[in-house]
Amino acid sequence: MSGYQPQIDDVMFTLSHVAGLDEVAKLNGYQDVDPDTVRAILEEAGRFFAEVMAPLNRIGDQQGSVLTEDGIVRTPDGFKEAYRKYIESGWGAAHMPEQWGGGGMPYVVGVVIEEMFKTANMAFSLAPMLTHGAVEALERHGSDEMKAAYIEKLVSGEWTGTMNLTEPEAGSDLGAVRTRAERQADGSYRLFGTKIFITWGDQDLTENIIHLVLARTPGSAPGTRGISMFLVPKFILDENGEPGERNDLKVVSLEHKLGIHASPTCVMSYGDEGKGAVGYLVGDEQEGMRNMFTMMNMARVGVGMEGVAIGERAFQQALHHARERVQGRFIGGESKVSVPIVEHPDVRRMLLTMKAYVEAMRSLLYVTAGEGDHLEHADSEERRKLASDRLALLTPIVKAWCTDVGVEIASLGVQVHGGMGYIEETGAAQFLRDSRIAPIYEGTNGIQAIDLVLRKIPLDNGAVVAGVIGEMTAELATMEGNDQLARFREELAVAIQGLAETSRWLGEKLASGDLQAALAGASPYLRQFGTVLGGWLMARTAVAALGGPPGFDSSFLADKVTTACFYGEQLLPMANGLAPAVKGGASLLESAPF
Ligand SMILES: Cc1cc2nc3c(=O)[nH]c(=O)nc-3n(C[C@H](O)[C@H](O)[C@H](O)COP(=O)(O)OP(=O)(O)OC[C@H]3O[C@@H](n4cnc5c(N)ncnc54)[C@H](O)[C@@H]3O)c2cc1C
Repeated sequence: MSGYQPQIDDVMFTLSHVAGLDEVAKLNGYQDVDPDTVRAILEEAGRFFAEVMAPLNRIGDQQGSVLTEDGIVRTPDGFKEAYRKYIESGWGAAHMPEQWGGGGMPYVVGVVIEEMFKTANMAFSLAPMLTHGAVEALERHGSDEMKAAYIEKLVSGEWTGTMNLTEPEAGSDLGAVRTRAERQADGSYRLFGTKIFITWGDQDLTENIIHLVLARTPGSAPGTRGISMFLVPKFILDENGEPGERNDLKVVSLEHKLGIHASPTCVMSYGDEGKGAVGYLVGDEQEGMRNMFTMMNMARVGVGMEGVAIGERAFQQALHHARERVQGRFIGGESKVSVPIVEHPDVRRMLLTMKAYVEAMRSLLYVTAGEGDHLEHADSEERRKLASDRLALLTPIVKAWCTDVGVEIASLGVQVHGGMGYIEETGAAQFLRDSRIAPIYEGTNGIQAIDLVLRKIPLDNGAVVAGVIGEMTAELATMEGNDQLARFREELAVAIQGLAETSRWLGEKLASGDLQAALAGASPYLRQFGTVLGGWLMARTAVAALGGPPGFDSSFLADKVTTACFYGEQLLPMANGLAPAVKGGASLLESAPF
């Protein structure tokens, strides 16, 4: 099994030449951010995750987290020590606000650190990911008192955060949430109910856990409109702000899952002892869904990153295997000697497909994260509005496209290994198993596609989608006159045209009220959109690499061009193949014999 090697050159190239790090560095508060500093930080972070977190990935898979008889979740060997080192290193707080003890780095840099953690050890990385989401939700919607009591400890990682939405009857439809919250005379609430599938709902890493829980207050409106969000600590804080009395909440059981075994997936019971779990309202009553979306949107980008991360790891492992495994002769040559399988065209195709998708997805992810920085720090209202619209549009695509493709890459990784890929020993199978959750949680990919079609296409009467299509079209001019990119340019022009056409068609269906037809095409449309966005950013990559920017050696830049051209000439054309499915309407689906 190969270890994890952080791809610092690729990350730096993508940040600087695709995702606009220089523009982010001009934003208020980020003036100290320059590529050399960022590189130095990321090299250090990469070393940490490769040396401390990656070696625990296999152990985590084999041992898993377990629920002991005394009701405590125990993490696999080595996790506790590694987590302590993680807190001490401060990597988790790098992009958190300085006001709360964070490093104040841009989100786009924090995202790379998060990517490294996920690439090293996806199951472990979920605890900080949810903690970051809790910080964001409390910063935006918590009271001053709440912020003062909880945020610093969450930023430092001394406490972790969780997200409690799902219940047995409330999965994709959170309007069905039944957990109830009763207001007390002192303004706090008591919560009663069961939550399922709660990631890192308990652990032995930190002395407190801060659960953000969706629940209903008496007399609240039906559906999602009536839901409120509560902060429910595992240990209620005493008068000194330290964890004190144990709250009335517990883990009833842990789920046995296909992958991410180290991540405890908990069934949680609130108010089991009859007292009710003490909770504090975050924001106002019946604003819970809106406020939880702060956490969910961030987590959706984080989950999208799992596609990139697991894809990168699966690729590294597959390439290592392909160079070592000797099998078959080179067909068409004189030699009778067997060669490493990396010499065979079909294996090279698999590897290059993996690499090209990873690089395209990484670009999309960093571009999206950069918009997050503009949203928070841009001077002009106009730029902040643009960032907000872009984030709204790109978030479901990042989440769903990257995770669907992540599973496919992990599957290709198994294929490159042949039979050994199906055997657990090589680790390729773990990547496939781990990757499979990402299209499911944080809103299934089907739900992301619905969000894209029903809510994002209509944004500003279609102007947000049109704006992105316009920007992609403008990229074509940068490729003009370059022979090496001529075919790529042609394919990109055709793919953008195809996306404009399906977007228009869906817009018309929405306008005419034929929602079933629009929803029937939602998932293929999201796939098409992601594929074309990938093509656009790979075009930007190729143009930048051909320009020979300083700081990267010529073979790295030549590889970037090859990979980008492969994407543009051989993967991107598949986007238009999805058009018949987008525009197929619902009639065949309705006629299906189910
Ligand atoms: C390992 C793991 C960790 C998790 N972590 C957390 C966590 O930390 N916190 C938390 O709150 N939850 C968590 N979840 C829950 C997760 O978010 C849900 O499983 C997910 O949202 C889907 O809900 P469901 O399982 O009820 O599936 P369902 O809602 O039953 O969906 C089943 C299928 O039907 C489709 N479907 C459902 N409704 C529609 C519709 N209206 N239109 C079209 N298609 C539809 C879905 O896309 C899906 O393909 C976790 C789940 C797992 C397995």
